[in-house]
Amino acid sequence: MSFTTLNLHPKILKALDIAGYTEPTLIQQKVIPKILRGFDIRASAQTGTGKTAAFLLPVLQNIITSTTKPGHGPRLLVLVPTRELAAQVADQAKKYSQGFPKIKTVVVTGGMPFPPQLRQVRDPHEILIATPGRLIDLMETKKISLGRVETVVLDEADRMLDMGFREPVELILSATPKARQTLLFSATLPKSVLKLSEKFLDKPMEIAAQSQQAKHENIDQKILEVKDIKGKKAQLLKILKDESVESAIIFAATKKGVDILTEELYDLGFNVDPLHGDMDQKERARTIRRFRDKRTDFLVATDIAARGIDIDSLSHVINFDLPRQSEDYVHRIGRVGRAGAVGTAISLVSKQELPLLRKIEQFMSGKSKETTSGPIKGPRKGSEKKPTRKAWKKKRPIKQKKAKRPYASRK
Ligand code: AMP
Repeated sequence: MSFTTLNLHPKILKALDIAGYTEPTLIQQKVIPKILRGFDIRASAQTGTGKTAAFLLPVLQNIITSTTKPGHGPRLLVLVPTRELAAQVADQAKKYSQGFPKIKTVVVTGGMPFPPQLRQVRDPHEILIATPGRLIDLMETKKISLGRVETVVLDEADRMLDMGFREPVELILSATPKARQTLLFSATLPKSVLKLSEKFLDKPMEIAAQSQQAKHENIDQKILEVKDIKGKKAQLLKILKDESVESAIIFAATKKGVDILTEELYDLGFNVDPLHGDMDQKERARTIRRFRDKRTDFLVATDIAARGIDIDSLSHVINFDLPRQSEDYVHRIGRVGRAGAVGTAISLVSKQELPLLRKIEQFMSGKSKETTSGPIKGPRKGSEKKPTRKAWKKKRPIKQKKAKRPYASRK
């Protein structure tokens, strides 16, 4: 199937050509015609499936082909859980609307200075991408009007609700015209999301990009059982030294855990940066940029910080710690295998984490599989040597990419 069959404006098709997209992804094939016809949508689709373009392209088409009410406020409002996802959606919005200089995209998110955002929302714009908390703050100034909104997108709705944004999301939706089109995208559809959609969506079309089982077929998922934290570190070293592991996000459970692991890997000569919610927005953006530009090989991150990062060429995701929420496992492994690419997700599971693993396996309908094949040549359960802290410090990795700059948190 080609994009030309989707009835999109020639300038949008040109932008897709420039982006190098040859054909619509599955979710785009399913969703675009329905959005063009004005339906509300409730879609289960993850990051990496091409879901952002699935809503941006048809809404952009609707914006350029229909007349609008007078006023300055947005015609498309996209609510997202995090600043990183907001930036990623905005990048794509600008990319697809490049042929239409009058279509302006504005981003408002928390953690950024308030006055410039206030100025931006007062200027005329068509697309507004916002995190719910900051948008509420701006609405309270009465300087922003949502009366022109034709379409609202709730992106990563499950995560927005998990982050406690139910009330602001509901308030914002109630402030938009009743006759709007509402599009809800969510990696998972728990009860809370279904309740929200029942309240605010009008007879939505139900779309699943892929079945839960088929979703991760291009991701090789490996589980490595280890005894304890030392076993995890030993295995992690083996993995990182493997030549096939070019770039990876290593997920740890806590901010402190991220800092400790980054420091240890840095001391061993790995080119690694930390990413967590205690870092300010500039530092996080710089870290993500460095990783995307391949100036850093590895990121050690918490879930919240890694959310919404748009990096196509990631080869591996490593779960140094398993996530507490099974949904987060889905999000984490969704960092690889994006837009049809093949990727590997490796989970290092200690004895203590076995109950968590069972929960995840249940959630994934038995999709996780145990294997020793692939790039990992390390010992199996119980057989790993227990390196002392000293040995861990002394041992030098084979693939030693010397860090090109001091680890960020060092003074
Ligand atoms: P998303 O699921 O929206 O996070 O998109 C994942 C990545 O796929 C983004 O980097 C998009 O730029 C890219 N993408 C979206 N649609 C296509 C397509 N039809 N062909 C190739 N890449 C795409």
